[in-house]
Amino acid sequence: DIYGSQRRNSGGPNIDIACEWGPFSAKVNQWLEHQWLGGPIINGQRLDTELRIDVKAPYDQRHLTGHMHFANAELVAQAVQVAHDGFADWHATPVGIRTQALMRLADLLEDNLEELVALCHQEAGKTIQDGIDEVREAVDFCRYYALQANDLFSAPLNRTLADGQSHSLIRDGRGVFVCISPWNFPLAIFLGQVTAALAAGNTVVAKPAEQTSLIACRAVELMLDAGVPGSAIQLLPGRGADVGAPLTADARIAGVAFTGSTETARLINRTLAARDCAPVPLIAETGGQNAMIIDSTSLPEQVVQDAVQSAFASAGQRCSALRVLCVQTDIADRIIDLLKGAMAELNTGNPCLHSTDVGPVIDRAAQQNLLQYVEQMKNTSTLLAQTELHADAAQGTFVPPTAFEIDSIERLGREQFGPIMHLVRYQARDLDTLIDQINRCGYGLTLGIHTRNEGTAAHIESRARVGNTYINRNQVGATVGVQPFGGQGLSGTGPKAGGPHYLLRFTKLSCTQLGG
Ligand code: NAP
Repeated sequence: DIYGSQRRNSGGPNIDIACEWGPFSAKVNQWLEHQWLGGPIINGQRLDTELRIDVKAPYDQRHLTGHMHFANAELVAQAVQVAHDGFADWHATPVGIRTQALMRLADLLEDNLEELVALCHQEAGKTIQDGIDEVREAVDFCRYYALQANDLFSAPLNRTLADGQSHSLIRDGRGVFVCISPWNFPLAIFLGQVTAALAAGNTVVAKPAEQTSLIACRAVELMLDAGVPGSAIQLLPGRGADVGAPLTADARIAGVAFTGSTETARLINRTLAARDCAPVPLIAETGGQNAMIIDSTSLPEQVVQDAVQSAFASAGQRCSALRVLCVQTDIADRIIDLLKGAMAELNTGNPCLHSTDVGPVIDRAAQQNLLQYVEQMKNTSTLLAQTELHADAAQGTFVPPTAFEIDSIERLGREQFGPIMHLVRYQARDLDTLIDQINRCGYGLTLGIHTRNEGTAAHIESRARVGNTYINRNQVGATVGVQPFGGQGLSGTGPKAGGPHYLLRFTKLSCTQLGG
C-alpha cells in the first residue's frame, strides 16, 4: 500500500476487500444494468457527434453497455487549438495547485470505485479482481506523479560558481502533449499518461483506444470535477486512423506518449518525422514476446502456478504476459503434467462472477485472430492442453486458455495478445544459446526466471536484454513508484512508467545565467 492504494496483481486475495466482498459486490451489481453515454470532451463540454457507436459487453454481446460518440477531423483540429491556447495558463499555474487537482482526482476514483469496476467489466470484460486492481493502479499513478512533480518542479535548481556567477535550471512543460492509450489497461494507463503530462505542466489531448472510450470519458469527467481546467484536458475518442493519425500529424503538438503495439508505434514515429516542424519526443511503450526460463533446481508446483497466472490472468491480455515457457529437459515432463492439471482447473466465464479466472478477450476481431492462430498451431506443433469453455461462451468473445509445445523459440512470430502459451525444452548446456535466441526476437519487455541457484539467476539476468525481470514469482504486475515498468528494443523507448525519470521526459529544461 504505497500511495494510499494497493498493489495490483499481488497474486493473492486482498484481505481488506475480501472481508467486504459481499457488500462490495452488491454495490458493483447495482451498476451492471446502467448504460453509460460518452463522447469527445472539448473545453470542459461533452459533445454528441453524428458517429454514435453501440458499446457491447465482451462477455455477452447481447448486453448493451452504452453509447459512445466518436470525434471527427474537425474536432481534432479544434481540440488541439483549445489545448494550445490553454497551455500558457496551465503552465503558469503553480505546481502545487496543479498537483492538488490530481490528488483530488485520486480521491474521486476511490469514491467511485464500484462504478468504475462495473464499467471495467462491461466495456473491457475485466474480472472483479482485475477491475479493482485497475482502479487502484490509476489511483497510485495520480498520487505518485503528483508527489513527484512537487519534488521535481516546485523550485528551480540554483548553483553559484566561485566567481559569483549564478545559474538557475528550470524544468517545465513543453506544450500540448498527445496521449494515446490501449484498451488493456483502459483506466490505469490512460490516466498514467495523462496525469504525468499534466503534472509536468503540459496541456493534454488524449486519444483512448476505441474499444474502451467510455471508461476514458468517465475518467475525464472526474478529472474536471477534481479541478483540472477544461482548457488543460481534451478527450478525442475515435478510430486510430481517423483521430490518432491527424493528431500526431499536427504541427502544434509538443510530444506524444503512446502505449500500444509496436506496429502502431512505428506508424506514429513515421507520422511525427514527416511533419515539417521541430522534432518532438515520442515515449512509446509497446509489445513483448516474454519468456520464463525454468531450470531443474526450481520447484515445479511453484513454476506451474506462476506460469499459469502469468500466461492466462487477464485472458493473457497484458503486455508483460508469459508467451513462452522454456523448461530444462530434465524436468519438462513433470512440468507438463502439472500444467495440464492446472489448466483443467481454470474457470473461463462471466467476469462479474468471483469464480471466474479467465474472462473474454476484448472483441470479436481479437477473438477471431487468436482462434485462427490456435488452429494453425494445431497443424504445426503439439497441443499440450486447452481449457474447456463454459456453456454460454458463444455469446461472448472467449478464447480457451491453450498451451502448445514448439521445437524452437525461433518459431514464434509476432506477439499473440491472448491466453496462448508456448513451451520449449532446452538442455542445460544450451542455456546461453536459449538466451541469445530470446534476445534475437528483438522484443525486451519482461523475463521470468525460476531457479534455486543464485548464480544461474544472476547469469541469465546479466545476459538477457529486457526491461523487467521477475525471479521465482509470476511475471505480471508492477507497483507504481517501486517497480518502474517498461521495455527496450521493440518493446519501448523508456523512460519506465511509474518510475523516478518518467516525468522528466514530459518537460524541457532551461538554464538562466546571472553575472556576479
Ligand atoms: P494498438 O492497436 O497499437 O492501439 C493503441 C492505440 O493507438 C489505440 O488508441 C489506437 O486506436 C491508436 N492508434 C491506432 N492507429 C493509430 C495511428 N495511425 N495513429 C495514432 N494512433 C493510432 O494497441 P492495442 O491493441 O490497443 O493494445 C495492445 C498492445 O499494447 C499490445 O501490443 C501490448 O503489448 C501493448 N501494451 C504495452 C504496454 C507496455 O507498457 N509496454 C502496456 C499495455 C499494452 P484504436 O483503438 O482506434 O485502434
